[in-house]
Amino acid sequence: MERERCWTLVGTYEDGTWHAAKRRRISGKPASVEVDWEWTLKREEKRGDVIGFAHTHPGGAGTSPSERDLRTLRAWRIALGKPLLMLIEDGETIAGYMLHHDDDELKPIMSITRGEQGAFIISNGLS
Ligand SMILES: [Zn+2]
Repeated sequence: MERERCWTLVGTYEDGTWHAAKRRRISGKPASVEVDWEWTLKREEKRGDVIGFAHTHPGGAGTSPSERDLRTLRAWRIALGKPLLMLIEDGETIAGYMLHHDDDELKPIMSITRGEQGAFIISNGLS
């Protein structure tokens, strides 16, 4: 089975738009995602620019978040104390979700554009 890959997203948020870059790639076990906790917590402490996570789903599995994805993001939401993004890639298809509160459902992101060098421009449709 294909291994999922996961990145921490760092970047900025302004007027309903995130500029995000993928950092610190981790290869998880098949069908599960593991993030580099230590790196991510240190990064947030030092720069405060962690905005979420991105991961792949095995080809054809789709871009819907799994229960585990939601549980993991909720744990991070509690750890970092701020709203977080989750991008899910399946081949060329990409979907984004936002978790505002710990007990929230994931809300789909309106628009995701691939920028240069693996960067993303993400908009929630609000401004
Ligand atoms: Zn997933």
